[in-house]
Amino acid sequence: MTEEEIQTEAEATEEEAQPSAQAAAEEPARRRAAGARYYPRRKVCAFCMDGIAVVDYKDIGRLRRYISPRAKIEPRRTTGVCAKHQRQLARAIKRARHIALLPFVG
Ligand SMILES: [Zn+2]
Repeated sequence: MTEEEIQTEAEATEEEAQPSAQAAAEEPARRRAAGARYYPRRKVCAFCMDGIAVVDYKDIGRLRRYISPRAKIEPRRTTGVCAKHQRQLARAIKRARHIALLPFVG
């Protein structure tokens, strides 16, 4: 569960055309284009799950998962890290950069 993969797999769901007007009225409006579907999944903070009280700036293996390919710190909304740990994580990444364990944006 290192990376959140966005489901883009097109799942063709054949829906029978209901001729009755009542069924059509109860049918929710299709706002989403055919193909990409969004499955909301409960994201839990990996640090909370592992019981990590303090995010270690020397743990680059872990920190690397929270930086983008362009070495930017990933936002909480993509990683699911809680606010408390995101603050610690940001600090840890910046410390790691300072001592050249992680790259600056480049
Ligand atoms: Zn947390």
